[in-house]
Amino acid sequence: MEKSFQEEEFARVITFTPPLYKQRYQFVKDLVEKYKPKKVADLGCADCRLLWMLKFCSCIEVLAGLDVSASVMKEKMHTLSPLPFDYLQPSERSLTVTLHHGSVAQKDPCMLGFDLVTCIELIEHLEESELKKFPEVVFGFMAPSIVVISTPNSEFNPLLPGVVLHRHPDHKFEWNQAQFQSWALEAARCYDYSVEFTGVGHPPTGMENVGFCTQIGVFVRKYPQTSRSVQYEKPTEAVYKTVFKAVYPSLKDEKYLRNAVVSEVIFIAQNIKHHLMSKHEEYDDDPERKSEFQPSVDYFSDYLGKLVVDKTMEPSVNGNEVYIPLATIFSFPKVNQLCGTFEKLCKLIAGKVTLSSDGSAVVFNTEHENE
Ligand code: SAH
Repeated sequence: MEKSFQEEEFARVITFTPPLYKQRYQFVKDLVEKYKPKKVADLGCADCRLLWMLKFCSCIEVLAGLDVSASVMKEKMHTLSPLPFDYLQPSERSLTVTLHHGSVAQKDPCMLGFDLVTCIELIEHLEESELKKFPEVVFGFMAPSIVVISTPNSEFNPLLPGVVLHRHPDHKFEWNQAQFQSWALEAARCYDYSVEFTGVGHPPTGMENVGFCTQIGVFVRKYPQTSRSVQYEKPTEAVYKTVFKAVYPSLKDEKYLRNAVVSEVIFIAQNIKHHLMSKHEEYDDDPERKSEFQPSVDYFSDYLGKLVVDKTMEPSVNGNEVYIPLATIFSFPKVNQLCGTFEKLCKLIAGKVTLSSDGSAVVFNTEHENE
């Protein structure tokens, strides 16, 4: 005789590796890697774990979290703050992380303009009245390019030990696959989205009809962003309360770019000077070779050897002063990449690095160097 689900329940304890919540977050991460959204909002973000994972996705420039419970958000929101390393090595991209206290049943202008909105294990926590308003708020008002919604699949419950009615006491309902899909298809039809169904947490072999443990709908907006501009013209009053905001240091901010460029310029100039001085010491006895620039094996020498084809780019020594042309420094890939143009380099280091009187070279005075 074939065993029923109930009997199976005692025969095996289903465990997921990695744990199911991690598989859900990984699903979102993969989606981010695929669509490269710049602005992502996580609704029902709870203790911000998914947001924390997403802050490492380099395409994201704006991350927002929303939860009706301020206390659960505050538990670990400090993990979303920049670390000392972020200040030491500011990133190319800009990143702002904001947390809002409010409900998905309410519209707030701070939720406009997002590319991806994630609702992971959220809808089953909504009261009937909130669930009714949810599609209009998310698909109608926020109207991002992509929405991902995950929710428990009740058909899987008999396979989970200890689950009597719902997987969590705060769940207001748990849908089977047909219920979720008909709700999702209706929302998609109403708001002009397409939806595809998938999930995480595979059922055991032979029980595939049960479906995934977590069912997921990925909604893609069918119309282009521009045709929704009407939405932006509608003023909506702010109702959410911002409980956290972190602006990450970025090279897009001139303050951090200047610091990075000045450090790099000084680092390169000092290395060239060091190289030049050691050559001078080496050839001290041979006056004929004294002013020659001799590339050697290290990185700077190698690089300089290739660069210095033009006399004006040659570092030089005059008495106690060492001159390193800015044009030479600008040719180093990192400086070049950071500044983009020679003019920008000059502008960024102005007043921060000692230059020759005509402003064309970094100058070091070696007079007191050995003291
Ligand atoms: N997305 C998280 C947490 C899921 S638990 C994760 O995957 O781990 C559901 C969360 O939704 C809870 O933190 C709860 O406070 C929040 N929530 C419940 N009703 C809400 C509402 N109306 N608006 C916003 N968040 C809500």
